[in-house]
Amino acid sequence: MVIIMQAGAPEAEVEAVIQAVEKAGFRPFVNPGVERKVIALLGKMDAEKAELVDHFSALPGVERVQLISEPYKLASRRSHPEPSLVEVGPVTIGGTQLAVIAGPCSVENRDQMVDTAIAVRNAGANLLRGGAFKPRTSPYSFQGLGVEGLEILAEARRITGLPIVTEVLHPGDLDAISQYADVIQIGARNMQNFRLLQDVGTAGKPVILKRNPGCRVRDLLMASEYIMLEGNTNVVLCERGITTFEDATRYTMDVNAIPVIKRLSHLPVIADPSHAAGDWRYVSAIALSAIAAGADGIMVEVHLDPSMALSDGPQSLRPDKFSELMRAAAQVAAAVGREVVLPG
Ligand code: PEP
Ligand code: MN
Repeated sequence: MVIIMQAGAPEAEVEAVIQAVEKAGFRPFVNPGVERKVIALLGKMDAEKAELVDHFSALPGVERVQLISEPYKLASRRSHPEPSLVEVGPVTIGGTQLAVIAGPCSVENRDQMVDTAIAVRNAGANLLRGGAFKPRTSPYSFQGLGVEGLEILAEARRITGLPIVTEVLHPGDLDAISQYADVIQIGARNMQNFRLLQDVGTAGKPVILKRNPGCRVRDLLMASEYIMLEGNTNVVLCERGITTFEDATRYTMDVNAIPVIKRLSHLPVIADPSHAAGDWRYVSAIALSAIAAGADGIMVEVHLDPSMALSDGPQSLRPDKFSELMRAAAQVAAAVGREVVLPG
């Protein structure tokens, strides 16, 4: 159930509604909308539902009370009709301008990270990615530089001004990651690592939550609920390809998921064509399709020399291809009423 307050309802009326909600045995969660506040009621809803609707509807300042049938209360568009904006330093994710997150799969060394950061910034990226803790299928593969990788990312941010996005694998690393990262990424493998989601919900940083390739959209939305319930509503969802019978690409980008999520949820949605394709030759086409479908941004892996990459080389774009993608992205974005700002 959500209680939608009248536009401009005074704080005292909002407060009185919150108290009434608590008195009825629910936990209130206030979504600070631009025009009007929406109070979500968290807790078990039983047979008295109809009476509660009447009770809350009669309170001063309440415009209407709506029952929510979706199990995801906080991520649901019904609880927050306007799209959410997630602010990361100078970048707003979910507004007209698209977020372009680019960088290597892994932080490998200082020069690789700094040179890539400069290249992607010069091409128009507005956020920098790089994994310091890497989830690898094989324990014998490169696992990331850990805290040293975070320090290198911080240096790349100092030099380029780009905020940094990096992945957390384990709650024990969260404090260190929070000291450096501007955005914490939960990778596809950890989408349903619920304790990690809860911990990230208390870390005070925006979160990018990637969809697990074997999970449905509604599972992704339920996973976001774990983060939001801890008080962190700065969540960006990321479609990065799902498992299908098709093996011509690594995964299959579920372009459908983008408009579906935008309808079901107020949270921004971005797309990662690199992990969906697994092959650099398809990355640009898939990225453009995601923008056309209404994505709020893209996340693209870029490497100076993909043949030498310590992870995900085959799907990484060289900087020149990334620049080409950015120019095409600006045109596709314009065609759907969005914007990619190219430098110079
Ligand atoms: C990554 O972003 O490098 C990554 C490991 O992605 P995913 O979790 O989507 O596989
Ligand atoms: Mn990768």
